[in-house]
Amino acid sequence: MIPSGFDYHAPRSVGDAIQLLGTLGSDAKLLAGGHSLLPMMKLRFAQPAHLIDLNRIDALRGIREDGAAVVIGAMTVENELIRSPLLRQKVPLLPEAASQIADPQVRNRGTIGGDIAHGDPANDHPALAIALDAVFVLEGPKGRREVKAEGFFHGTYVTDMAEDEILVEIRVPAFAPKTGYAYAKLKRKTGDWATAAAAVVLRMDGGNVSHARIALTNLAPTALRAADAEAALIGKPIGDASISDAAAKAMAICDPVEDLRGDRDYKIAMAGQMVRRAIAKAAARCQ
Ligand SMILES: Cc1cc2nc3c(=O)[nH]c(=O)nc-3n(C[C@H](O)[C@H](O)[C@H](O)COP(=O)(O)OP(=O)(O)OC[C@H]3O[C@@H](n4cnc5c(N)ncnc54)[C@H](O)[C@@H]3O)c2cc1C
Repeated sequence: MIPSGFDYHAPRSVGDAIQLLGTLGSDAKLLAGGHSLLPMMKLRFAQPAHLIDLNRIDALRGIREDGAAVVIGAMTVENELIRSPLLRQKVPLLPEAASQIADPQVRNRGTIGGDIAHGDPANDHPALAIALDAVFVLEGPKGRREVKAEGFFHGTYVTDMAEDEILVEIRVPAFAPKTGYAYAKLKRKTGDWATAAAAVVLRMDGGNVSHARIALTNLAPTALRAADAEAALIGKPIGDASISDAAAKAMAICDPVEDLRGDRDYKIAMAGQMVRRAIAKAAARCQ
C-alpha cells in the first residue's frame, strides 16, 4: 500500500518531458493514468526516484481526423474513447472494446498510451492496435519516429520504445465502409484482465473474405498477430470450415502462462472459442 519516496515533476510540454527523461535517466518514470504504475509502486515492484507526470501536457490529449487516419493522443483516457463520436463512426472497435477494459473509475484515469506503453500482455490495447494495423508515434531527443503496432511488443513489459522516448500518439486507419469488427474477451468478472481474448477486423467482397486481421490478448508473453488464422479466411466464404480452420491456427501460436485464470490447455481452448466468436460477430457486421 505504501510506495517508496520519489520526486515529482509536472512538465507542460513533450519537449520538457523528454529533457527531464534525459537528465534523470533510468531513475525516472513517466506517469500517465497511474493505474498500472501506482499499483506496482504500492507493492514496491517499481521504485522510481522520479515521476514525470504527463497529465498537464494538453498536446497529448484528444482524438482527431487526419486524412484516412484517426489520431489519438496518448493521454486520452478510456472513457473518452468510449464517448468519441469520431471513433464510433470511423473505428467502432475501439469504443466497444474500451468498455470491456477495467471499470468506470479506472477508465476515467487509465490512458490508451499507458495501456500500450506498459507492455503487459494482459492489457487489451496491444492486440486491438495490432488488429487495427495502428502506428505508434514516438518522440525522443532526436525527434519523432513511427513504429507499427505489430513490431512494437518485444516481450512482457518490453517494447520497442527507448528509455528517453515518449509515446505521443496512436494513428489508426479509419474503417472502410462495411468493415466488420469484434473483440471477444473471456474474463472471470467485470474489471478483470482477459483469460483469453481475440480482436478481429474483417471485410468481405462478393461473399468471400477480402481482408482479415486477427490478434490475441494474454495468450503469450506479448499480444500476438494470428497471421495464419487470417490466411485461413482470406478468399473464402465465412462458414464452419473456415472458422474452425482459423481458430485452430490461432490456437497453434498460443503460449500462455499458467496462473489463477487457468492452465495452458484451458487458455488455449478458450483462445479458439474467442476467435470463433469474434470472427462470427465481425462477419455478421460486414453487411
Ligand atoms: C482494477 C484494474 C483493472 C484493470 N483492468 C484492465 C483490463 O481489463 N484491460 C486493460 O487493458 N487494462 C486494465 N487495467 C490497466 C489500466 O487500464 C491501466 O490504466 C493501464 O494499464 C496503464 O495506463 P495508465 O495510463 O494508467 O499508465 P500508467 O500506469 O501511468 O503507466 C504505465 C506504464 O507506461 C508508461 N507510460 C505511460 N504513458 C506513457 C507514454 N505516453 N509514453 C511512454 N511511456 C508511458 C509509464 O511510465 C509506466 O511504465 C486495469 C487496471 C486496474 C487498476
